[in-house]
Amino acid sequence: MTTSHSGIGMTSQRTRMRMVERLRSQGIADEVVLAVMGEVPRHLFVDEALASRAYEDISLPLGFGQTISSPYTVARMTSLTRGGMALGKVLEIGTGCGYQTAILGRLAKEVYSIERLAPLLTKARRNLREVRITNARLRHGDGLVGMVEAAPFDAIIIAAAATHVPDALLEQLAVGGRMILPMAIKNEQRLCVIERTPQGYSETRMDQVKFVPLLPGTG
Ligand code: SAH
Repeated sequence: MTTSHSGIGMTSQRTRMRMVERLRSQGIADEVVLAVMGEVPRHLFVDEALASRAYEDISLPLGFGQTISSPYTVARMTSLTRGGMALGKVLEIGTGCGYQTAILGRLAKEVYSIERLAPLLTKARRNLREVRITNARLRHGDGLVGMVEAAPFDAIIIAAAATHVPDALLEQLAVGGRMILPMAIKNEQRLCVIERTPQGYSETRMDQVKFVPLLPGTG
């Protein structure tokens, strides 16, 4: 990859700062998350033809029927994942192009990320190398089974809509940890926060969202 489409107009630092301003006005209050989103060059994660739209508040196609979440969704999910605290070990399901992985990589000690579509994982590895994220371990596999050898995780973030919370992931969540996922409930999807306490699990339903489905197996 090259920097051929960076540094020009629509992909400049100034454009990124405008995105951060917009996120703030949309209610994102975690300044730590906003600072990181102001730094990571989102346009490098999308196809060159779409680079000029990378900072708009829209999701964009990644190929293979998948989409990169909008900046607002990434900011919202990351803020919920942090809950105002420093992040230790995080598991992400649905690496996609690796943009959310890069944001987490800047905020957490270690990130583990699983993607079921091998060609997307190849793209994500290249993108993460380009933005010099070195604390993310990527795996091709089914995120529904998690990564037992690296568990427990302080946070788990799922980038595709589930119909139920995967049991293996509940087990791999540390006590005191939280899982953020879009849940398909009846005809809509809601962002859910699941917290593991010494007594068990609690679930809080938040904003209505729109994600691609969490699918079993590998593609
Ligand atoms: N966070 C990503 C969003 C990608 S869209 C980004 O910033 O680009 C959701 C991704 O979840 C897709 O790439 C899809 O292939 C992946 N996915 C769906 N079900 C999965 C599963 N069971 N395990 C791993 N990845 C899965």
